[in-house]
Amino acid sequence: MKILVVGGAGYIGSHTVRQLRRAGHDVVVFDNLSSGHAAALPPEATLVRGDLLDEGAVKAALVAHQPDAVIHFAALIEVGESMRAPARYYRNNVVGSLNLLQAIVETRKIPLVFSSTAAVYGTTDAVPIPEDAPMQPESVYGETKLMTERMIHAFHTAQGLPYMVLRYFNVCGAAPEGDIGEAHASKSHLIELAALTALGEREKMLIFGDDYPTPDGTCLRDYVHVQDLADAHVLAVEALVKGTQQAATYNVGLGHGFSVKEVLDAVDAVVGTPVPREVAPRRAGDPPRLVADAARIRQELGFAPQFTDLQEIVQTAWEWHKRHPHDFKK
Ligand code: UDP
Repeated sequence: MKILVVGGAGYIGSHTVRQLRRAGHDVVVFDNLSSGHAAALPPEATLVRGDLLDEGAVKAALVAHQPDAVIHFAALIEVGESMRAPARYYRNNVVGSLNLLQAIVETRKIPLVFSSTAAVYGTTDAVPIPEDAPMQPESVYGETKLMTERMIHAFHTAQGLPYMVLRYFNVCGAAPEGDIGEAHASKSHLIELAALTALGEREKMLIFGDDYPTPDGTCLRDYVHVQDLADAHVLAVEALVKGTQQAATYNVGLGHGFSVKEVLDAVDAVVGTPVPREVAPRRAGDPPRLVADAARIRQELGFAPQFTDLQEIVQTAWEWHKRHPHDFKK
C-alpha cells in the first residue's frame, strides 16, 4: 500500500519510512524540512516539501498521491521551548493537525496514525502507566499532543475517521546500519548527549539529581528503540488499512525502566572508557519514574520489540554519532 508520512524526514519519521519500505509499502513524505533532513530519506521515497499550516498543500498531496493511509509525525517537540513560545506550538501542532484532519476527511477519509507522547500523562503515580491513566500534561508541548488526540477522536466520532494514537516513551538509538539517527538542532536527550560527550563534543554529562526515590537515586525511564517504534507504526497502519482496528490508543515502550546511571554505565561499556559525569541538581519537571504499561500494544498489534538490551540500544546510537558527530553534516 501507499503511505503518506507527514513529518517523515525527522528522527522517528525517517526510521519509519525505512521500515515501511522494508515491509513493501510505497512512501510519500510531506515535510517542511524545518527540522527534518532530506538526506535521511531513501531515494525511493517521494518528498513533497510542504507545510501543514498550508491546508491547500496537504490537500493537494493527498489528491495527487492517493495514499491508503497517513502517518502524522510533524510537530515542534521541545518541552522547554513550548513553555516560552506557546503560540508557535499551538499553531504548529494543533492548527497544523487540524488542517491535516480536515484535508483527510474532505478528500479520501483514509486512516491516520498519530505520533503522541507519554507527556500527555504529566506527573503520575502510576507505575507502569496504563493508557487510561489520568492525563494532565505539564507542558504546552504535551497539551498540544493531547488536544490533537482529542481532535482526532472527535473526527472519528463525527466522520468515521479510523485512527491509532501511539504514545511514545523515551525514544532512542539509531538504525543499526549507522546511516540515520537522532539529529535535532537542540540536544537534550540523555543517550545522545552521552554519546556526544564520549566523542569530546561536550565536556561532561550532568546527572540531573541522584536523590530520587528510586533504587540508585536517579530517574527511571522506558527507553524504546527508534526502529522498534518504527515497526509499531507499520503494525498500526497495516491493522487500520486491513480494517481489523478502527480506533485505538497505545503506549509504546518496553515496559521496563532504566536509570540515568544505568544508561551512563552502558555508554561507558560500549565506548570502552568512562564518560565524564557529575551530579547536578534535579531538572525541573522530571518525574522519578516514567515506565509504559505496554501490554495492550503487545496483545492487540503483536508488538515485539527487538532491542531490549540497554547496551545494544546504546551501541546503535554510538555508531550513528561516531559516524555523524555533526548530524547529517559530514
Ligand atoms: N538526564 C540527565 N542529564 C542529561 C539529560 C537527561 O540526567 O544531560 C536525565 C533526565 O533528568 C531524565 C532522563 O535523563 O531523568 C531522560 O531525559 P531525556 O531528556 O533524555 O528524556 P525525557 O525523559 O525528559 O523525555
